[in-house]
Amino acid sequence: MTKSAQTPGVLYVVATPIGNLADLSARARDTLASVDLIAAEDTRHSAALLRHCGIAKRCVALHEHNEREVSAQLVQQMQAGKNIALISDAGTPLVSDPGFRLVRAAREAGVKVSPVPGACAAIAALSAAGLPSDRFVFEGFLPAKSAARRAHLQALIVETRTLIFYESSHRIVDALEDCVAVFGEARHAVVARELTKLFETVLDGSLAELHARVARDAEQQRGEFVLLIAGADENADSARLAEGRRIFELLRAELPPGRAAKLASEISGAPRNALYTT
Ligand code: SAM
Repeated sequence: MTKSAQTPGVLYVVATPIGNLADLSARARDTLASVDLIAAEDTRHSAALLRHCGIAKRCVALHEHNEREVSAQLVQQMQAGKNIALISDAGTPLVSDPGFRLVRAAREAGVKVSPVPGACAAIAALSAAGLPSDRFVFEGFLPAKSAARRAHLQALIVETRTLIFYESSHRIVDALEDCVAVFGEARHAVVARELTKLFETVLDGSLAELHARVARDAEQQRGEFVLLIAGADENADSARLAEGRRIFELLRAELPPGRAAKLASEISGAPRNALYTT
């Protein structure tokens, strides 16, 4: 499929499954079979998918650590007429995955970039969550350490759009605990686990319920997660906050501020951190 040297090739950004191999589209398969080269986040990981499709194709690794220099080489090859497919380990490349630098370099060089859309965990989770989906914010992975995570969440406390996060199995319980502390126990949320796979579960409830449910069940802590949190309800949340602050001011005259904030939060339902930060 190599074109003449005058006609540049195309960069196809190809989505692959997030678990269920049957989710690879026919066009994605055809594209992978027809390009000259596949740029893959992890060539060994992608070999399994390509084997499954009966595709034997030259692959080069393009990951976080080599993206800059490999992108330059790939752009040269596309300028010389080669067609290249970009894939990541799962789902849509560039969505919490490498590829942004390659796509930008290709576009800057005048190489056509064409998406071959398909699975994306964030969108799959949103489609099954039952949370408002007309406007949403994709936040990717939260910081690994609790203090940084809480600070990050704090900045989202008044966000009214549905929030979407990626989370790993060893941090899901701590992340939920921090969400309860920042957004309050009552905020509605969804934990979507192992989507399209054998142990797919989509749990919904208040943040406090979800935290308790996942914390007590080791099974619910395994696999890959998307965490979705309903946006702030401006009227209800500001009324709760006003009530929480009123109670806090009354209690702090009698109690240490940390204790006053805890009680005011329990009584009003307002997030403790919004009343007093240590
Ligand atoms: N590019 C991918 C996409 O389009 O969704 C995301 C890649 S990111 C490195 C991997 C994260 O996506 C996982 O840690 C998890 O949070 C989420 N994820 C991927 N597959 C998933 C699945 N089957 N179920 C739930 N979450 C998943």
